[in-house]
Amino acid sequence: MKRAIGLTAVLSLAAIGLVGAEPANAGVEKLYILNCGEGVAGDISRWSPGVNEGKSMDFVDNCYLIKHSQGWFLWDTGIPDAVADMPNGLAPADPRATTWRRPKTLAAQLEQLGVKPADIKAMAVSHTHPDHIGNVEMFPNAMLYVQKAEYDWPAANGAPRFKPEHPVTKLEGDRDIFGDGSIVVLSTPGHTPGHQSLLVRLPKTGELILTGDAVHFKANWDNRGVPANNVSKEQTLASMQKIADTLAKDHAQLWINHDKAQRDTLKTSPEFYE
Ligand SMILES: [Zn+2]
Repeated sequence: MKRAIGLTAVLSLAAIGLVGAEPANAGVEKLYILNCGEGVAGDISRWSPGVNEGKSMDFVDNCYLIKHSQGWFLWDTGIPDAVADMPNGLAPADPRATTWRRPKTLAAQLEQLGVKPADIKAMAVSHTHPDHIGNVEMFPNAMLYVQKAEYDWPAANGAPRFKPEHPVTKLEGDRDIFGDGSIVVLSTPGHTPGHQSLLVRLPKTGELILTGDAVHFKANWDNRGVPANNVSKEQTLASMQKIADTLAKDHAQLWINHDKAQRDTLKTSPEFYE
């Protein structure tokens, strides 16, 4: 009798999750930094008017592949894989902007990890500039999380920003993707009308903010430099402040997408962060 009561107590504790089985929702398991382009910016004063005129800088372009207990999530898709076949890379119309190369394709890096494009359940892009949306249609069935302001932003040629048939969730502000706080889209407009950044909580590494292009390199973060071609200087500065407040509150790390000097200090795929 005594034993039976003990067992019942243990079973009821297990039922409410206090002992025994793994937690039902383990959140983010790991994060890979993928090489989604390498380039040279012709004149970085384009990103900080009046500063460093005529100075060029090496840029990188990252994608981030995240394994969540509910499925794979991809943040940004980089330069189109087709650029890998262009020996001189993709030259910009404005020589002060960035010439991009694709030393590794996104497809090959996923394959190396044993991840099929169809395994990507959900994705989000920071914004609709070509160095971030180049491979969205490699994942035609992945739910795309994008701000409504970005989705509806008229393109110069009048074409839609995304294929109308691509599954989409149009956001108006922040969004906790899986409802557990482990992957949260942060609305950070200014670079474009519906620019967004991503907060990720990793079990060992802790909390990260992936900037998108809310800032392009560390000096611009430190000095609050705003690129000349951003749609709103005021929104850009407010978004930087929002990121700074989140970093301070949550003791998070800031990972700046295009900053090569920083990326060179980080582990890249097939290594990963837990
Ligand atoms: Zn960019």
